[in-house]
Amino acid sequence: MTSGTRTTGEHGAVTAAYRALFDAFDDDRSQTLSRAELVGHLGAAGIKEDDPRIRAILDAAGEAEMDFAGFVTLIQHHSGLVQRAMQGTLAVPDFTGLTAEVDRMYRETLPVRTGQVADYIPQLARVDPEQFAVSLCTVDGQRHDIGDFDTAFCVQSVSKTVSYCLALEEHGVDLTHRHVGREPSGQSFNELTLNRQGRPHNPMINAGAIMSCSLIRPGLPLADRFDHVAQTWQRLAGGRRPGFNNAVYLSERDTADRNFALGYAMRESNAFPPGTDLRETLEFYFQCCSIELDARMLGVVAATLAAGGVCPLTGERVFGETTVQHCLSLMTSCGMYDFSGEFAFTIGLPAKSGVSGALMVVIPQLMGVCVWSPRLDELGNSVRGIEMCRKLVETFQVHPHAAQETRAARKDPRRRRNQSAVESVVALCWAASQGDLDEVRRLASSGVDLGAADYDGRTALHLAASEGRTDVVRYLLGRNVDTAPVDRWGGTPLHDAEREGHATVADLLRPTVPRQKQPRRNRPAPAGD
Ligand code: GLU
Repeated sequence: MTSGTRTTGEHGAVTAAYRALFDAFDDDRSQTLSRAELVGHLGAAGIKEDDPRIRAILDAAGEAEMDFAGFVTLIQHHSGLVQRAMQGTLAVPDFTGLTAEVDRMYRETLPVRTGQVADYIPQLARVDPEQFAVSLCTVDGQRHDIGDFDTAFCVQSVSKTVSYCLALEEHGVDLTHRHVGREPSGQSFNELTLNRQGRPHNPMINAGAIMSCSLIRPGLPLADRFDHVAQTWQRLAGGRRPGFNNAVYLSERDTADRNFALGYAMRESNAFPPGTDLRETLEFYFQCCSIELDARMLGVVAATLAAGGVCPLTGERVFGETTVQHCLSLMTSCGMYDFSGEFAFTIGLPAKSGVSGALMVVIPQLMGVCVWSPRLDELGNSVRGIEMCRKLVETFQVHPHAAQETRAARKDPRRRRNQSAVESVVALCWAASQGDLDEVRRLASSGVDLGAADYDGRTALHLAASEGRTDVVRYLLGRNVDTAPVDRWGGTPLHDAEREGHATVADLLRPTVPRQKQPRRNRPAPAGD
């Protein structure tokens, strides 16, 4: 076979795979798929109708019913998205399972009404404190939103992430960090303090974000610099243009003594790049804080960071992978104000919050999450935002440093429905039948139930007994598994051992008091036994 061509056999296999896919979703056996059916199947996988990739697909599909040939054309022209969505091989295979859990967490968090909205400017003080939105987007662009997800809020300190990435992209890590450190400050976000070199401690606090702003296209007029930032947010969010809250900007500017004080302190210590206009830099910083997004958009921005800088909805690379790596590292150590250490300890994920109640959480290589709810705790983080994060790590295997024991007790969103349970039983039964005691031990230590049965009711003890694996039988009995589980043919491990003539195993399994019940024996002997 020459490269780039397919053999007839290979081509036939591909067509058969498409046929299987088509038939699996052709519920009414009409040999056609309608647009509504397609949208429904994609929707169940988390691919929404307003997804830019889907718009192209639906336009190509048109309104007419699609036959098999049309379906194949569709699949071949859209980079596997339809195929992967229908086969359940996107980043979160069981997307409806995930969203059901997220909705449950949302409902449980909704009654939480502690905390206060930020009141240092009237625009934030007037926001309805009851509002609450959660939006998530996976690295494959599967999306889910609940609550007030289409209400705009200003990003405030969440802007510090994007400003830092822009500074890195423009100047690289060495030059950028000649102007700003990368240590947690251990102080409040707007504390009037610099590090020993007279530089801001990190880019996630006010002084550091002001410094990032000073590094973004310093040679251009302010309007162009702002356009550059706004366009970057737009690309990160998959194409929707962010808003700008002018009233927030004006208020921020009028109540900015502390930020001006930080600016003057940095100027005094020669922290800024030469030629920096302090007033303009501060105005630029206030403008960046006043950019408005809704939760859906911020969820996609978070997903772009989770995907290493490539927007899942457009496939566009917005930031380099190394830029994103640095940003996520600093979000992990410094993104949650004075709660950053505690957040890193309990949640472990890179996140950034803002005084508007916005919270952007990144689960690298999996998904981005935005939680927005305006009531803040005394450290300035959204109360419901923190609560949602707690629930997230209690439910799913997302803490990056989770112990095996902890992981075993959580759901893995990367797996198919029941995949873990099925795989672990298969692995256990296989190891038992092979007499691979080390593997049985390893599975036990990772929390697998040693008494678990497969679809036929066969357990590790059945398999070990049937194959005469004395060590494994002894080990399992020592772990107090049920000694006489009954498979779907009525067989127990003792019957397996007796039938196969494994006397030592049979002795181990034989009850001291003879059993009354004699199970039926009509299971055909396994081939080759
Ligand atoms: N605009 C705010 C300030 O600089 C940002 C506050 C925040 O979200 O942390 O004070």
